Amino acid sequence: MTLTKSTEYDVVVVGSGAAGQAAALMAVENGNKVLMLEKGRTTGGSANYSEGLFAVDSYLQKEKGIDVSTIDVLKEEVEYSKYKADSRIWRKYLDASAENVQWLHDEGVKYKGVQAMGAGEATWHIYEGFGDAVIHQALQPKFEKLGGELLTSTSAIGLDLGEKGLKKVTLKNEGTGEIQVVTTKIVILAAGGYLNNAEMMAKETSYDLTRMIPVSCGKGTGDGLRLGWQVGAQKAGMGMAMLFGGYLKDPQEPSFKMMHSQMCVAAGQQPLLWVNEKGERFVDESVIYKFSYAGNALYSQNNVYSILDAKIINEMAEKGNFMGLGVFIERGKKMDHLQAEIDQALSEKKPFIFKADSIEQLAKQINLPVSALSKTIEQYNHFAEIGEDQTFGKDAKYLRTVENGPFYAFKLDIGAFCTMGGLKVTTDNEFEDESGNPIKGVYATGNDAAGLTGDTYGPNMPGTCAGYAFYSGRNAAQHAQKYL
Ligand SMILES: Cc1cc2nc3c(=O)[nH]c(=O)nc-3n(C[C@H](O)[C@H](O)[C@H](O)COP(=O)(O)OP(=O)(O)OC[C@H]3O[C@@H](n4cnc5c(N)ncnc54)[C@H](O)[C@@H]3O)c2cc1C
Repeated sequence: MTLTKSTEYDVVVVGSGAAGQAAALMAVENGNKVLMLEKGRTTGGSANYSEGLFAVDSYLQKEKGIDVSTIDVLKEEVEYSKYKADSRIWRKYLDASAENVQWLHDEGVKYKGVQAMGAGEATWHIYEGFGDAVIHQALQPKFEKLGGELLTSTSAIGLDLGEKGLKKVTLKNEGTGEIQVVTTKIVILAAGGYLNNAEMMAKETSYDLTRMIPVSCGKGTGDGLRLGWQVGAQKAGMGMAMLFGGYLKDPQEPSFKMMHSQMCVAAGQQPLLWVNEKGERFVDESVIYKFSYAGNALYSQNNVYSILDAKIINEMAEKGNFMGLGVFIERGKKMDHLQAEIDQALSEKKPFIFKADSIEQLAKQINLPVSALSKTIEQYNHFAEIGEDQTFGKDAKYLRTVENGPFYAFKLDIGAFCTMGGLKVTTDNEFEDESGNPIKGVYATGNDAAGLTGDTYGPNMPGTCAGYAFYSGRNAAQHAQKYL
């Protein structure tokens, strides 16, 4: 018995997230015999959780009169990456981005609108029902309807460039352990990066992994990169995870659950008071409006706590938060469950939360020097009273005195959505070998492809990661068509 319906394909796509689904659908629409592999029991990968994709000049932006310049975005992204990103890859992506939004729309994706995130530009095209609906109500049903073959619980575990352009992909059924080899003219890797491979993360990045909380589908284990490197693709662009600021680690719950927690957002995503392991402030906390910078800022210290008092908790409940978390908890939302969530976390003795009636007691509970924390808060209160942060220049509108007990400290770890990079590609998403020559008929897309970032995820253009995943999948499939 074989795992697949056939042993020969035109196109094999590894992964069924944003990049894989876009590639597979486009390839089947182009009349090819396509096999899409998914190692998990369910499809969609981390794309299921994504909220929206990037574009400039889309029909939605035009309708709203939003004008974001292609050249400005290109320059900003490339300069931000310290020229580690590839300007040609960005240019092609930018030029195709509006059509990418349109294509998804034409395939049945519904949009809620287009917006900014934090301090960013309005480039984020929010789809209805998260990425889950994009995959499961639009792309995948169409792929299957057009005769594409999808195998779940089936990993690609080997890749061989074969002879005369016929590649061999080794498949493994994750349930039964059964192995099979199929041949194909085209291979498109879309396996979602390596955030969930602890060994690779330790080797290839410089993050303190004890403080990183991966919030993703959990299946980005670097398989695509290993397969690519095995056949001579150049290793490039490693070392970057998409950090998104402060997050609470609850060892008893899946990390994704906190995405919906008002307490987690109040603790980790506000421009309020953060202190380090010495009880000192270390940054203008409004860095949180640029979420990937905030991750770096938190990582610049050995340990970080955010400090809230009863007054600010009431303010967020009555007037709304300063900053949300994507569209999971909207910016400005009244935090009506916040106190209840805090009380529950305390009653369950969650390890990230501390409460005391005085700053001195709070400092003792979290093992910070009492005098340092008291001095920090005294000075911070003074800044709030005079309306000027004389140390780090935080805007006065975010300054609040910390004076009404009870006081709370939250240990902040750092959330991460995905990695990007690993396989060097041409502007057609074809692999590049060590000499920069394309390896014909094999492609890397989405989070497996390098060329979009430097050591930190993009500046102020939300949606570039998912946007690139959809675009690069299609880009690869379009180029593959010419090759075929
Ligand atoms: C909570 C959350 C919110 C996000 N929000 C946004 C957002 O709003 N905008 C944005 O731009 N980005 C966002 N992102 C990032 C976005 O999800 C990714 O950019 C996108 O999903 C990348 O697509 P991909 O296809 O490369 O990987 P994925 O979508 O992760 O898909 C990879 C798939 O490959 C499968 N796979 C892995 N190895 C194998 C193998 N050996 N064989 C077969 N299958 C394999 C995996 O199981 C997975 O299903 C978010 C991420 C998270 C976690």
